Amino acid sequence: MKYQKELVFGLVSGVLVFAMLIGINVMPFVLFLALVYFASNYLGVSNQRGKTGTLITAVRKEQLASFDDIGGQTVAKQELLEALDFVNQHREAKRLGIRPLKGILLSGPPGTGKTLLAKAAAAYTDSVFVSAGGSEFVEMYAGVGAQRVRQLFEQARSAARKQKKSKAIIFIDEIDVLGGQRGKHSSHLEYDQTLNQLLVEMDGISNSEDIQVLVIGATNRPDLLDGALLRPGRFDRLVKVDLPEKEARLQILQVHTRNKPLASDVDLAQLAQETYGFSGAHLESLANEAAILALREGAALIEQRHFLQSIDKVMLGEQQERRPPLEEQQRISLHEAGHALVAEHVRPGSVATVTILSRGETLGYVRQTVDDAAVYLQTEEQIRQQLWVLLAGAIAEELTLGCRSTGARGDFQQAIELARRYVLAGMSPLGIVDESVLGKGEFHCAQQELLREVEQAVRAYLREHLATLKCVAMRLQQEERLTGERLREMLTTE
Ligand code: ATP
Repeated sequence: MKYQKELVFGLVSGVLVFAMLIGINVMPFVLFLALVYFASNYLGVSNQRGKTGTLITAVRKEQLASFDDIGGQTVAKQELLEALDFVNQHREAKRLGIRPLKGILLSGPPGTGKTLLAKAAAAYTDSVFVSAGGSEFVEMYAGVGAQRVRQLFEQARSAARKQKKSKAIIFIDEIDVLGGQRGKHSSHLEYDQTLNQLLVEMDGISNSEDIQVLVIGATNRPDLLDGALLRPGRFDRLVKVDLPEKEARLQILQVHTRNKPLASDVDLAQLAQETYGFSGAHLESLANEAAILALREGAALIEQRHFLQSIDKVMLGEQQERRPPLEEQQRISLHEAGHALVAEHVRPGSVATVTILSRGETLGYVRQTVDDAAVYLQTEEQIRQQLWVLLAGAIAEELTLGCRSTGARGDFQQAIELARRYVLAGMSPLGIVDESVLGKGEFHCAQQELLREVEQAVRAYLREHLATLKCVAMRLQQEERLTGERLREMLTTE
């Protein structure tokens, strides 16, 4: 009943007030009720959490995903499917005396589709799907977490029985919160009890049960997990779920645009190229934001420009209302034009957007496409190219306005880090170096030498193209945002 709690509360208060009026000492009752309330809320004695589903959520069949809804992740899907086929052949495995598969651990960065994979696993194996987050087991009261773990397994089995299924998948997100190494937490007794209970429950999974339980854990930090969780017979299948590469990004975009009306100019391959580093969740958000943008404009179809603008939003956050004063806008335009000009010089065709519209923490930015063929390693030439682009903003300011500003601080930090990598990779005149014996001064000098050399080269290049730089900056200040194509058009006509 909707107002059940309020009714009981009103009734009990009424009885207590009446008892007080006729002279009965109500204090013992009040204390007793307070105790019951405390126990039911914090110790889970009443089992209410399980019943109301705040802790445990048995997902309805139609809310499950299918493997077709998951773009990319070919290796993860294949590994998972192999393990699940084993679950599906449960009877045959039992006949051969093979112990049941108890746990699969999905590990990877946020938003890469771990929950989605677990839901698809439930649909594929026709299991009941019950999920909980690791942090839901963390309580300051000893024993509560352990009790919740017990409840989770009980609920999974009873939900399966109710739905007349023979299998249940328990999905525990952020499993590192509850499965961290024992003895490492400040309130370690409670954490240890919770983890021990999970181990006990997993050990209790056997072939002889009517409901076959499979635990799927997800984590971004498998290194934090207690060794006991990872040993054979527990989470002994580790499936890596990585950030998608270009082809996988394209597949994910195809999944998330299936239900959207797209204009003929939409080029998903280009979007996949420009979204290096995006997770599946980012790509889903990108498709959604593009549709919202189209809706706001009253457009019937979603166009490529809606997607391109949404990339910036997903990457850097909501556009800010703040508008710097005119003088600063001019400086920001010159700074960004410097980056863009040099980026096109060192890697033609690489600029995707240049803008002075501030988003998140940035006042303006140049977004370059990343070459997917070169993401794991950097050659000496690539480091130098990146340094050229990073230093160009400050040098453009210096050449046009006579001095630099604090706007280049972030660029310099990145440049210093790159120069550090350059020296440590044995690319500097110091040759192959051992960081532990290299003097700080010597290291610093090698970094400085590289940065100064690049600075001089960039200064010479921009001095030679000062007119173009000013022209691009002026256009940028007027239009606030230029696409890569627009910029390249300007550069060829200049
Ligand atoms: P977290 O670690 O933050 O819990 P997760 O890895 O569990 O994240 P999901 O919750 O599965 O990520 O993904 C979030 C959303 O991102 C999904 O609902 C889906 O819309 C989208 N998504 C993520 N990966 C993919 C993918 N490979 N294919 C299609 N959609 C995806």
